[in-house]
Amino acid sequence: MAVIVQKYGGTSVGDTDRIRAVARRVARTRLAGNDLVVVVSAMGHTTDQFIELSRQVSGNDHPREMDMLLTAGERISMALLAMAIRDQGVEAVSLTGSQAGIITNTVHGHAEIEEVRAFRVKDHLDKGDVVIVAGFQGVSGESKEITTLGRGGSDATAVAMAHFLKADACEIYTDVDGVLTADPRLEPEARKLDEVSFEEMMEFAAAGAQVLMMRSVELGWRRGVPLHVRSSFHDGEGTWVREGVEGPPGLVGVAHDPVQALVGLAGEGAVAEVDAALQAAGVSGATVGRGPAGVGAAVPRDQAAAALAALASGGGNRAVTLDEEVGTVSVVGAALRARPEAAAQAAAILADAGIAVLLTAAVPLRVSCVVPLSMVDDAVRVLHRSMLVPPSGEGR
Ligand code: ADP
Ligand code: ASP
Ligand code: MG
Repeated sequence: MAVIVQKYGGTSVGDTDRIRAVARRVARTRLAGNDLVVVVSAMGHTTDQFIELSRQVSGNDHPREMDMLLTAGERISMALLAMAIRDQGVEAVSLTGSQAGIITNTVHGHAEIEEVRAFRVKDHLDKGDVVIVAGFQGVSGESKEITTLGRGGSDATAVAMAHFLKADACEIYTDVDGVLTADPRLEPEARKLDEVSFEEMMEFAAAGAQVLMMRSVELGWRRGVPLHVRSSFHDGEGTWVREGVEGPPGLVGVAHDPVQALVGLAGEGAVAEVDAALQAAGVSGATVGRGPAGVGAAVPRDQAAAALAALASGGGNRAVTLDEEVGTVSVVGAALRARPEAAAQAAAILADAGIAVLLTAAVPLRVSCVVPLSMVDDAVRVLHRSMLVPPSGEGR
């Protein structure tokens, strides 16, 4: 009998009609003879609403209490889905992350899964129950406190569960047809990819392609769990994320990240110098490169202050600059390994379209341009239409 893990994201369980639709799909899969674990996200924008509520009661940070608050979202959807599945004549039981044995470190808000002890999940599967697991959460092995895994973390719950259960499939159901060559909310011409390698998907997610949480891709890669990203609205094939993909290296797509800040060192300077200063200060996820005003880096906006301080202390007497109204637009794909000119090409395409390029950077599978926040959406379309030519050409 096959063991299947299915994960349903926020939109897929966004209202009670959607929950009943998921319940019907789950019941169908179970009645076809599969053992089934279903990982759920919070309904719709519940997590954002909880964050907003916390801001209304306090201006301070409360990492432990935030995790107590945010984990409630997934508990609501898991219980409602279990009820709806039982109405389909299929036995189902819901478990929190802690009950399901998701053991993490103690970093509230960004906990990492250290171990899975899903023995209760196995017992329920042996009894024939569908097991619903609340995504995005676990319990610290050390402090026994409840933790969350970071935004989009239900994807990581699903991958960890699939690995523990040696599942035959790990299906990530979402509100788009799969992994597309760009965010379809910005680029209507974006195309679904049939397959993408773990390595490319890591880079795509790191560059802002929201459809999979980066850490879940990393976990799938390390543990050898292929992922099938697909629509919860129809039965069509989605995108396979797996180890090797067929054919010559191509481009995956254009990703954007609108929550970035640009820090820079005016005048002469080396990219390696900026890189070293940011790394020494523990600033993660920086895109280091060069722009018209000098060397610098795009960093996640919540790390802008730390990045600025790092450059100020490491940059001698040179002026340090900060612009918090920027975003990155990146082209990703294995083909870029053989295209050292791609970064300059992307910057020239954007400049020709009247988009100011504040910084250009290249790493092996990605080229990124930092642009003013107001121009990010246009930049996605411009780069997609000129660099991601249809399948007969270089794209997939
Ligand atoms: P879920 O709640 O199912 O986890 P997310 O909102 O986390 O869904 O991710 C799906 C969304 O990711 C899509 O609605 C889409 O707008 C966005 N997205 C961004 N980049 C891409 C991409 N390259 N391919 C597919 N979707 C993308
Ligand atoms: N509900 C959480 C979030 O909105 C986790 C998830 O959806 O995967 O980030
Ligand atoms: Mg998600």
